Order: sequence, then C-alpha cells, then structure tokens
Amino acid sequence: MSSLSSESIATLKSALRGEALQPGDAAYEEARQIWNAMIERRPALIVRCRGCADVRQAVALARESGLPLAVRGGGHNIAGSALCDGGIVIDLSLMKSVRVEPATRRAYVEPGATLHDFDHEAQAFGLATPLGINSTTGVAGLTLGAGFGWLSRRFGMSVDNLVAADVVTADGNLLRASAEENADLFWALRGGGGNFGVVTMFEFALHPVGPEIYGGLVVLPFDAAKEALTHYREAVEAMPEDLTVWSVSRLAPPLPFLPSEVHGKPVIVFAICYSGPLENGPTAVDAVRRFGKPCGEHLGPMPYAAWQQAFDPLLTPGARNYWKSHNLAALPDGLIDTLIDAIAALPSPECEIFFGQIGGATQRVAPDAMAYPNRDALYVMNVHGRWTDPADDARCVAWARGFFEASAPYGLGSVYVNFLTDDERTRVEAAYGPNMSRLVAVKTKYDPQNLFRHNQNIRPEGSAEASQ
Ligand SMILES: Cc1cc2nc3c(=O)[nH]c(=O)nc-3n(C[C@H](O)[C@H](O)[C@H](O)COP(=O)(O)OP(=O)(O)OC[C@H]3O[C@@H](n4cnc5c(N)ncnc54)[C@H](O)[C@@H]3O)c2cc1C
Repeated sequence: MSSLSSESIATLKSALRGEALQPGDAAYEEARQIWNAMIERRPALIVRCRGCADVRQAVALARESGLPLAVRGGGHNIAGSALCDGGIVIDLSLMKSVRVEPATRRAYVEPGATLHDFDHEAQAFGLATPLGINSTTGVAGLTLGAGFGWLSRRFGMSVDNLVAADVVTADGNLLRASAEENADLFWALRGGGGNFGVVTMFEFALHPVGPEIYGGLVVLPFDAAKEALTHYREAVEAMPEDLTVWSVSRLAPPLPFLPSEVHGKPVIVFAICYSGPLENGPTAVDAVRRFGKPCGEHLGPMPYAAWQQAFDPLLTPGARNYWKSHNLAALPDGLIDTLIDAIAALPSPECEIFFGQIGGATQRVAPDAMAYPNRDALYVMNVHGRWTDPADDARCVAWARGFFEASAPYGLGSVYVNFLTDDERTRVEAAYGPNMSRLVAVKTKYDPQNLFRHNQNIRPEGSAEASQ
C-alpha cells in the first residue's frame, strides 16, 4: 500500500489521544506552517500526538502505508524536514512537558518543548543546559543534531548533556537509550538527527546558571570590521569559558540604543554572554568594548531566560530563509576580506553572516565518543539569507552561495548538520566525517528499511538514494 484509505485514517483517529488532520480540516493549514516560509509542502495526514502511544500508532501507519514520513519537533529546521508532501507527519508540538528535578539536576523533556519551555522550567531553579540562541527553536531537533549556544563553551554541546532518551523505533518498539541501555543507539542519537526513531522523552543534565547573566551587544560601524575581527580572534585565544562572543555582520536593525543615523547601515555586532559571577561581568566583557570604537552598546546584567529570547525579534517565523555553513578553526585575514566583500553586497536588510564561537568544553570530547564528531570547530559560520518577497529568492540565494563558496578555502571541510539546507544532501558525509560508517551500521540495525528518511539522511546498507 502507498496511500491512505479512509478506513485506515478512521482506525487511526479512533486510536489517538491527539488528533489527525487532513487537507480541508480547519486546523490543517496552520499545522503545516513551519519556520522557513521557503518550504511549502502538503502532507496527506498530520498526526498531532499527545503521547508515546499516539507516536507508536502513527509509526505503524507510516510503516504499513509505505507513505513518506516526516517528524516535527519545533518546526525550525531550515531544510523543512518537519514536513513531507503527500505523506504522514508525526507532529510532536503538543507534547511540551518539561519536568525538572532540582535535587538530581535533571530535566525530563518531551519532544514538542521549545527552548523557551525548557528555560522557563529550569530557570525557576537557577538551572540550565546548553541549547540554542532563539527561544522558539525545538529542543528535539536541535539536540538530535548536536546543539550549541551561549553555554556550550562551559558545558559542551547539547548532546554532551543528554543522559538518556526514550525512542520509538521503526518496528514500533519503545527503547530507552543511554550509556547503559542500547548504547549503540544512544551513541547515534547524539548528533545523528532523526534517523533512528522518534524520541518521546529527553533526559538532560542541568547546571547552575544565572538566574542573571551579564551580556548584551557591542555594535561597531562595518568600516571597523577588519580591525575588530583581528582583535576578536586574538581575544578568543585566551577567553574564559564562561564568556562567549559571537560576531554578526549585517545592516543595523533599528535598535533603540543605536543612533538613528546608524539604522540600516552596515555594522558588525558582537553579541556577548558572560555567565560567570555577575560582579565580574563588566571586567569580563571589557576587552570586547575595545575591539574598536563602538557606535552603540547595550550591556548589563539581565535574566538568562531574557537573553535566550533576545534574538527572537530578528528570527520570527514566516520569512524566506536560505543558509550555508562551514565549521571554522580560525578567522584568517582572507576570510575577513571575503566577509567584507559579501557585506558590501548584502541583498536584503535581514541577511547576515555570523561567526558563532564554540570551543572550550565542546572540544574536550573525543570525536568518536558519539555521532557528533566536529570537536575541532572553534566557530560555526552561518551565512543567513533572509528576505520576504519571493521575487528576491534567486538574488538572495545566489548571495548566500557566493559567500559560502568564497569562504570554503578557510573552512575545516566539515559542517553542522542542523544548518544544512534542503539541497545539501551531498554534505551529510561532511557532517559526520569519521563517524559515518558507524552511523550506517546503527541505522541498518534500527531502521533497515529507512522509514525515517525525511531528514539529513543516513542510508542503511543496501538502500538506494532516499526518495522523499
Ligand atoms: C532561528 C533559528 C535559530 C537557530 N539557532 C540555533 C542555535 O543557536 N544552535 C543550534 O545548535 N541550532 C540552531 N538552529 C538550528 C536548529 O538546531 C535546527 O533547525 C533544528 O533542526 C531545529 O529543531 P526543531 O525541533 O525546531 O525542528 P524540526 O524542523 O521540527 O525538526 C527537525 C528534524 O529533527 C528531527 N526530529 C525532530 N524532533 C524529533 C524527535 N522527537 N524524534 C526524532 N527526530 C526528531 C526530524 O528529522 C525533524 O525533521 C537554529 C534554527 C533556527 C531556525
């Protein structure tokens, strides 16, 4: 069978605690919206699960129907892997519970939780784990691809803090994956994306953080970018791990602390999070203020949970987005010159190029300790093409590709799997490098038919190129 009969849909509906939406249903159109408006897909069925039992029903239907299957957490993936055309979507966005155990410093997180949901619960106890920089992102997809953010230099990648996961596999079984149970599956889940099953519960280690951090933005005119980035790369060499500084090059948004004549002009922004003792904050960030002569700055103590939302207004859903990314070990002069050329040709006010600093604890884990191998990356570069008018698609995509190609000689050759676009399936090997063959073996064991293929796919042995 490779279609859905009305009988099989009715049987599924009667077996669910959640709901199953079809084209024409009132909630269907909204349920098929995801963060990146470039992705326009119409699934045959969206199963909005309320728990593990619903997930198992949906997996069984997908397996029996032969239809494409997509899994949706927070719906942020740039490649739009949360949606498939004409197939079944397992939508986990209603499963948002986050249970924190302060005594053991553990969080038990359902797969529809966003970073905001997580931070809200964990910060009530002054606890956190490394996640990303935009609070509407899903914990699930971010973690399964490895995950990094403001706390990664101190505490590692999100996957370095994953203790266990409950997984519904392609055969419908519910497995616990941890260092003690199904250790091969646990190894693969930590970076291998959604290739191995549907995670219905994540268990994370937590760390005391905040509740206030010291941070904010230092903004310089882009004319000063070369000098500022030269100071930045020198400072990074000796930066303490409780300080993380990202550089973002773009046109200045109308931020209230910037003089109005700067709005819309090219700037380089240093975004800073210092999570050490609050009283040390001003000293810790002082070096950044001396990268050049700022045209504006906004620095001070603030709740960690508020900083986690600081970039949300620039990253709202519904815009058209196209990304390209490299992992970097350094910022050589040639790369900085290439950046300067690209910013001179920015095709829209929302496009930007960032160097996200990681390093620190992210580099102290062996590359083969888990699926995520890129322990030599000190920065993750992302060229973020973003615009609103479909008529600008070709121009903005060409700009992003142009910088990506020009900057390739300065990259490590590897890439962060969660930043891969829909047209980059040939780069999956670059995301996993030396761990690829072991990932293929685990995939072959747990998903030999490649049921979970609507993702940055790791193909099981003997399977052909995935049809999506
Ligand atoms: C604005 C923005 C900012 C970002 N910032 C960061 C950042 O700071 N750091 C960072 O590391 N990444 C960041 N990302 C990238 C992010 O990690 C990926 O987009 C990630 O895939 C998002 O997860 P999601 O659950 O929201 O996405 P979805 O699109 O819902 O899921 C992506 C894929 O993950 C898999 N998946 C999701 N849930 C499950 C599950 N429960 N079981 C099995 N498979 C599942 C599926 O294959 C799914 O298609 C950012 C993305 C955006 C759009």
